[in-house]
Amino acid sequence: MIVGTRNASAHLFCGSLIDGSGGPIQQRVLVGIKDSIITSIDREYDRKYLPPGTIDWSNCTLLPGLVDCHVHLFMSGTANPAVRSSQLHYTFTEARPIIAGHLSDQIRHGIIALRDGGDYGGHALRFKREGMQGMRSPVLISCAGRAWHASGRYGRLIGRPPEDNLSLAQSIASDAESPDHIKIVNSGINSLTEFGKETRPQFSLQELMKAVKTTEHLGLKAMVHANGRLPVDAAAQAGCHSIEHGYFMGKDNLTLLADRSIYWVPTAYPMKAYTGLAKKGSVEANIALKNLDHQLNQIRLAREFGVPMAIGTDCGSLGVHHGEAFSEEMRLFVEAGCTIPEVVRLATANGAQLIGIEHETGEFKVGMPATFVILKGTPTALFDSLKLPERVYFKGIRLA
Ligand SMILES: [Zn+2]
Repeated sequence: MIVGTRNASAHLFCGSLIDGSGGPIQQRVLVGIKDSIITSIDREYDRKYLPPGTIDWSNCTLLPGLVDCHVHLFMSGTANPAVRSSQLHYTFTEARPIIAGHLSDQIRHGIIALRDGGDYGGHALRFKREGMQGMRSPVLISCAGRAWHASGRYGRLIGRPPEDNLSLAQSIASDAESPDHIKIVNSGINSLTEFGKETRPQFSLQELMKAVKTTEHLGLKAMVHANGRLPVDAAAQAGCHSIEHGYFMGKDNLTLLADRSIYWVPTAYPMKAYTGLAKKGSVEANIALKNLDHQLNQIRLAREFGVPMAIGTDCGSLGVHHGEAFSEEMRLFVEAGCTIPEVVRLATANGAQLIGIEHETGEFKVGMPATFVILKGTPTALFDSLKLPERVYFKGIRLA
């Protein structure tokens, strides 16, 4: 067995390998691992000559560990209104077991790295800072702590406004919570009563430019929640590192993101999940479905234009469950025209690059840590088998 101990070496054989590069699916692959590092990858290997002791997963598909670039660890995806409203007021002590539970759900589904989009109490950041409460599973988490939104605008559930006498940039600079990245909210959320309704930006271009500069000065990246043309345009012009959601941003913004190599994390699945929960035939259900269609068209264009994209589920949203939602989000990218190897690249290497952990996880190649997911069946069964991976390994250690 592959374990985390020093000097342990192993061979494993898998029927298919989707390595996260976006290249073709490899067949009958023999992988060598030593000291928890991938040392060899032999394609089209004749199964008759497997080295003794090889772990035989010939009826399985191997993927690199998955990366969800937009989660909210403090919230569950449950539709139970009582649970949802109480989670919005939990103290850290109350939130702690919820966060731990969500992390286990993520790991079980093969997700080994997460980027948290913030919560009102900075609970997820504190959970990480306090040693993950001794959780055995060493997943990689990047936390925003409390996001920044303009006073009186959307964002209270996930953050706070700058202090009265401070600008956004000054607030970021003087914040003692030292988050792993900065989350800025620059628009409202999608309307479910009026299709395509856009909200105005929360911050001016000047404010955003200074905020991004300060963020970079701290050695961090800025993720910006933005829907609609003006909010996305300002965030992109300001040089932010990723646009979150980006509903109704329009063609010009997609071109701008491609030109500037700014990541887009479309979070399409929450609209689909909402459609499933809303009353059939209701205005809300119809608009959520139209929002989803519109977003899938934007993804189609983004792929054509070469916008860098990553998978983010926004789990914690209504009906968007930790871990489970990831394969649903991937599936929507295929619906929007991506091939399976492409969507696996978004779900692994691209996510790792956006978070800045590309030396720890990403592509499955020689020299990288042995972090991977084993799924039953061929790549055609990928999204179903992701509901319950056979095995999940993180740097050689079996997590699930
Ligand atoms: Zn979010």
